[in-house]
Amino acid sequence: MATCLHDISMRFPGGKKKCLTLSYDDGHTQDVRLCELMKKWNIAGTFNINTGMYPPEDTILSSDYKGRLTRSKYKEVYLSAPLFEIATHCYTHPFINKLSLGQVAYEIMEDRKNIEADFGGICRGHAYPYGVYSKDIIDLFKTCGIAYARTTKATLSFNIPDNWLELNPTCHHAHPDLMKLADTFVNDSPVKDPWLFYLWGHSFEFDNNNNWYIIENFFEKVANKEDIWYATNIQVCDYTNAYKSLQFSADGRTIHNPTSIEIFLRCDNKIDLRIAPGDTIAVD
Ligand SMILES: [Zn+2]
Repeated sequence: MATCLHDISMRFPGGKKKCLTLSYDDGHTQDVRLCELMKKWNIAGTFNINTGMYPPEDTILSSDYKGRLTRSKYKEVYLSAPLFEIATHCYTHPFINKLSLGQVAYEIMEDRKNIEADFGGICRGHAYPYGVYSKDIIDLFKTCGIAYARTTKATLSFNIPDNWLELNPTCHHAHPDLMKLADTFVNDSPVKDPWLFYLWGHSFEFDNNNNWYIIENFFEKVANKEDIWYATNIQVCDYTNAYKSLQFSADGRTIHNPTSIEIFLRCDNKIDLRIAPGDTIAVD
């Protein structure tokens, strides 16, 4: 009789051990430059916007204009490449811990509705404005169809989140350890559980602090690596949840993938497996 499996680790699509994702908030004009850089380096990521705060359509977005993009410009910028996910950041960027839960529900659903109208699909991502939330808000977000919600608490790690509605990033782009973390991420490799590098910030900070070199240097270091999956936030969330949905026999040697996503995993640190959607495999 075959022995039971002892150890199973998730791998990202293609069997990759690492994933990079970005999360940038508020949708200011500097997102245009950030999107161009992401396209140049093939970096995917998520932009969290407030659809109740668009400036008038006739706003002239000249080089000295500082503020949010117009609705039409949002569509032009974020639909220019398949690298970008648009997620909620509430309708009007309030302190949601100061609102009634009914008001919070409105802030989320109104933002979701507008994002879905302009960008298509089902909007299920969120970043907490000002990083504030509560247990009641997390419960409400589940009801409102939100799959993940990002905080502002740096983990300085590459751990896969336990709770996707309390999604703590690796760090903000201004963290002094950013390039040290990037060096480790690129040059080292996880043995068992895969690594997620989750970077967040606001693109206007690069102008305010005259430090676009931070993100340019970061992209140059981490881009176009064969062992890194470059994904939006919802892609990582959906993939991880699909992995958690795998069904195992008692000895772990028969595995069924009930999802619509192709899943990769590593067993006993020596067997690499790929399980097609709906497929059942036997591990020798
Ligand atoms: Zn914000």
